[in-house]
Amino acid sequence: MHALKNMLPNKNSGKVLTLLGLVASGGLAVQVAAQTALKTPAAKAVEVASGERAAHVEWGYTGPTGPDHWSTLSKDYAICNSGEQESPIDLKDAIPADLGRLAIAWKPLAIRATNNGHTVQYDAPPGSSFAVGGKTYALAQFHIHHPSEHLLDGRRFPLEIHFVHKLTDGGFGVVGVLVANGVGNPTLGKMIAAIPAEEGVTGTGPMIDPRALLPVARGFDRYEGSLTTPPCAEAVDWVVLRTPITASAAQIDRFATFFPFNARPIQPLDRRFLLASR
Ligand SMILES: [Zn+2]
Repeated sequence: MHALKNMLPNKNSGKVLTLLGLVASGGLAVQVAAQTALKTPAAKAVEVASGERAAHVEWGYTGPTGPDHWSTLSKDYAICNSGEQESPIDLKDAIPADLGRLAIAWKPLAIRATNNGHTVQYDAPPGSSFAVGGKTYALAQFHIHHPSEHLLDGRRFPLEIHFVHKLTDGGFGVVGVLVANGVGNPTLGKMIAAIPAEEGVTGTGPMIDPRALLPVARGFDRYEGSLTTPPCAEAVDWVVLRTPITASAAQIDRFATFFPFNARPIQPLDRRFLLASR
C-alpha cells in the first residue's frame, strides 16, 4: 500500500508508468513490494483489531458514534477520518489487468455465529483459504452487512458478505460477495436462522458449505483498502466479486430485523488503482 503511495502521479509519473507495466504483466512485483511495505502498519492493525483497548470503545453507524465521528472515539481509530486508502468504495471505472486466477478453497463448516452488536460473525476453523496473484490468505471469519458497503457502478445491493482472511505477515485479504434481491439462498437462510437475538451471544447451527455463497462467475475487482469498521486499518487486499448472488426478500428482511443498517459510507478512491480481472 505504501509502495503505491510512494508512486503518486504528482510525484513521479515515470514510476506510475512502471507500476502499471508491472500490473499488466501480472502484478506480482507490485504485490511483493506492497507486502513488504505493509508489515509494520499491518502488524499494528492486527494488534489493535484484537486488542483489549479497542474492544471497550463504543462505535456505531449513526449519530454521535457514527462513521463521521469514529476518529474522535479513540486514538486507535484516528485513521478512520483521515486515511486515504479507506474502504468501502464505489467499484467503477476499474482498469482491466491480468490479476491471475482467483482460487477459492473453502471447506464446509459447522455454523458458529456471534452477534457482536455490529454484525453477525461466523467463525471459520483453520483450513480454508483463497489465493490470488501469488499470495495465499487464510479464512478467519465471515460476516454480513445490510445494505452492501461497496457499490457496483453506483449501485447498492441489499446485502454484502465479507470473508475475512489473514496473511501470515499480519495483513488481511477480504473477499466481498454482493447479494441482490431474487431467489433465496438456502445456505444464507441457515446462517440467518442461527443469528442470536442478543448482543454478545454465540449460537451454533448446522453444517454449511460457504462455497454456496459464491456466484458461478468469478470476475472480480481488486484494490488496496481498509477494514470498514474501527480501527479502519489500511491493511486489506480487497477482492470483490462483480457478479452478485441472490437472497429472497424474506431472507433480507429477516437479517435487517437484527441489523437494520451496518454499512459504512463509501470512501474516495483518491490516488489508488482499482483493477478488474480480465
Ligand atoms: Zn465487513
